[in-house]
Amino acid sequence: MLLRKLELYGFKSFADKTEVEFGPGITAIVGPNGSGKSNITDAIRWALGEQNIRNLRGAKVEDVIFAGSAKRRPLGVAEVSLVFDNSSGTLPLDFNEVTITRRVYRSGDSEYYINKAPCRLKDIHELLFDVGIGRDSLTVIGQNKIDEVLNAKAEERRLFFEEAAGITKYKHRKREALRK
Ligand code: ATP
Ligand code: MG
Repeated sequence: MLLRKLELYGFKSFADKTEVEFGPGITAIVGPNGSGKSNITDAIRWALGEQNIRNLRGAKVEDVIFAGSAKRRPLGVAEVSLVFDNSSGTLPLDFNEVTITRRVYRSGDSEYYINKAPCRLKDIHELLFDVGIGRDSLTVIGQNKIDEVLNAKAEERRLFFEEAAGITKYKHRKREALRK
């Protein structure tokens, strides 16, 4: 499964609608300090359902919304879409292309969509858990994460291995089942 495209609107420094297309193989994003490289990975994590805003280098939910600049007024909404190539059928949906969208307003209300149909955050998590790219997964490894792995206690380090081995989703389901 390939992340084919990222679409941003009003997310952090991306006030204009921006599309980033990813080809097969490795993509490198280069640019001067502060030009928005890390904001791109933040956008991917955010659209995958990240709930902890500090993991996205913010303090409040609305910190992901374009805050304005000298020449431009702040925006009221941020939206990020991830377009996955699903021709291999990895995601259990009968579509060759699957788009996951998250939108947030200044009020703090979030909306989620799968192929433009409104859904719950839970639906996004369940869809992604199955393929191991859920919110707590190792899909995006930031600089701080590398330090975390190196400094982790044995118990914490075990969680990284469980995640990589795909065990986390079963633990999650067990917890859910026990709660019912
Ligand atoms: P470095 O090379 O230093 O890691 P970078 O390319 O990763 O830089 P980012 O951290 O992605 O840069 O971008 C930081 C920029 O994003 C800053 O200029 C910051 O003001 C801007 N920014 C972050 N949040 C917002 C927001 N909500 N509205 C407008 N701009 C924002
Ligand atoms: Mg950076």
